[in-house]
Amino acid sequence: MDTLSSARERWLSTSMTDARIFQLGFTALYLLDLGLRFAFGARWPWLSWPMASLLLIAVLAAVTPFLRPDRSVHAPVGLAVLDLAAVGMARLDPDPSSGLLIVMPALWLGRVAGRRGVLISVGAVVLLVSIPSMLYSGLEPVETARAVLYPVVAGAAALVMAESMEWIAHQRRVSEAIFDTVDVGLLLLDARGGYAGMNRRHQELMEVGFPDGHAGRAGQVGEAYDADGRTRLAPEQSPSHRASQGEEFDDLRIWIGRDAEARRALSVSARAVRTESGACAGAALSYTDITDLMRALQVKNEFIALVSHELRTPLTSIVGYAQLLEDDPGLSGTARKQLAAIERNAERLRRLVGDLLDVAQHDAGAVGFDRDRIDLVEIVRDAVDARTSVAEGSGVVISLAVAERVVIVGDGQRIAQVVDNLVSNAVKYTLSGGAVQVRLAAEGGHAVLEVSDTGLGIDPGDVEHLFDRFFRSREAESRAIAGAGLGLSIAKDIVEGHGGRIEVESEPGRGSVFRVRLPVGT
Ligand code: ADP
Repeated sequence: MDTLSSARERWLSTSMTDARIFQLGFTALYLLDLGLRFAFGARWPWLSWPMASLLLIAVLAAVTPFLRPDRSVHAPVGLAVLDLAAVGMARLDPDPSSGLLIVMPALWLGRVAGRRGVLISVGAVVLLVSIPSMLYSGLEPVETARAVLYPVVAGAAALVMAESMEWIAHQRRVSEAIFDTVDVGLLLLDARGGYAGMNRRHQELMEVGFPDGHAGRAGQVGEAYDADGRTRLAPEQSPSHRASQGEEFDDLRIWIGRDAEARRALSVSARAVRTESGACAGAALSYTDITDLMRALQVKNEFIALVSHELRTPLTSIVGYAQLLEDDPGLSGTARKQLAAIERNAERLRRLVGDLLDVAQHDAGAVGFDRDRIDLVEIVRDAVDARTSVAEGSGVVISLAVAERVVIVGDGQRIAQVVDNLVSNAVKYTLSGGAVQVRLAAEGGHAVLEVSDTGLGIDPGDVEHLFDRFFRSREAESRAIAGAGLGLSIAKDIVEGHGGRIEVESEPGRGSVFRVRLPVGT
């Protein structure tokens, strides 16, 4: 977990105090001052204080790469004080270098040592710059005035910097408190997929997902599984890898952890972090713990599966006996009608129970499809034939236009379920006097089934929910048209399970077109 801890430290640490950058900047400023003086005609002999000071600065610049300023505050403080000494030395000349150079070490002292840095810079400027230069100039008025001003300027610069750092540190503490309080794991990736930071919650989640440690880079899988909780994720499927490739997503569900008791279900969302020019600068991911929700869904599915299964057997026998009784020639007209009502309703219940079982099995990941060569033409013809009498009974004309043969590889029974559902919906949601048209054709490697009607149509706001479980449009509810809102969601699962697509176009009051595309078999 070492890398993780350091990623977290980076997230929490005050900004890294890199003395090298400071020293480089200071040296560059000093050389600029020197260069300008030479350019404008000033001359310093080799054995002069400014030259000695240049030597000191060069030595300091050479040793800074070996300092570890992030480990200790003493090194950068010492460096800044020596820089002030160099400025003091450079001023011991009839042609002194600029006193403005004290600002840079003063700012640095304010940054690395806060308020103490203000005192240190004032003290160091008095001792190393002001007093020597007053002594050297023999209290010459202009030099003396400057010597008094230098500690004030240094103190003010250090104070401004110290206050700014204090304010930034305070803001950072507030953000940390917020990030650490939320019960959502937050992870920040840099442009190359390295872990740039994370909050406390995410660190806890990482300990579950990566019990053997983590290298601090996106794409390590550890104990991470697909939404089914069984299939281990491949490295390129891991949310962090996908986010590092610039992908954005919401509610990607995964399970993490080896141990059944401790494992957690997570809903992951990712957003790319971009620079002002739009280049990818990394990614931010949020991990929400949805274990309770997933467990509740699992229990619900098991319950539905159990109840549906238990209901199916008695219902089958009710329908069977009702059909047998119908054959009894001694039945009165009334009894025959009542029996038909029993049969109709038991059949409806049987379909509903069947749908519930399908949904539960699909959600539990327990559906498998047969892979036979099947002729869709036959299936579509059967579905239309089966609905013709119902359509006629409700004053709807149903027509069929099919190709000769459209063969696909798939599960005939489940595909028939899809076609039945679309045709029966078209008839069900079309008022008397309307028409339903069913078309089947092979187009560019796909079988395309189109079921269009001139029925009620669907409100644009309802269209996006049409394939949700238990969704029923307001129109269907207000007209009390029977249904449970499961048929289309099951149809979608079946079509997608066959590598196909289902889509809808609809206009309220004018009708709908449901289109299914399935890859044709070879
Ligand atoms: P059900 O028909 O049993 O309610 P479905 O999942 O088959 O369930 O359909 C979901 C909802 O979609 C229906 O309740 C209905 O509001 C709407 N719908 C489906 N097909 C059509 C259609 N052809 N015309 C208008 N609305 C439809």
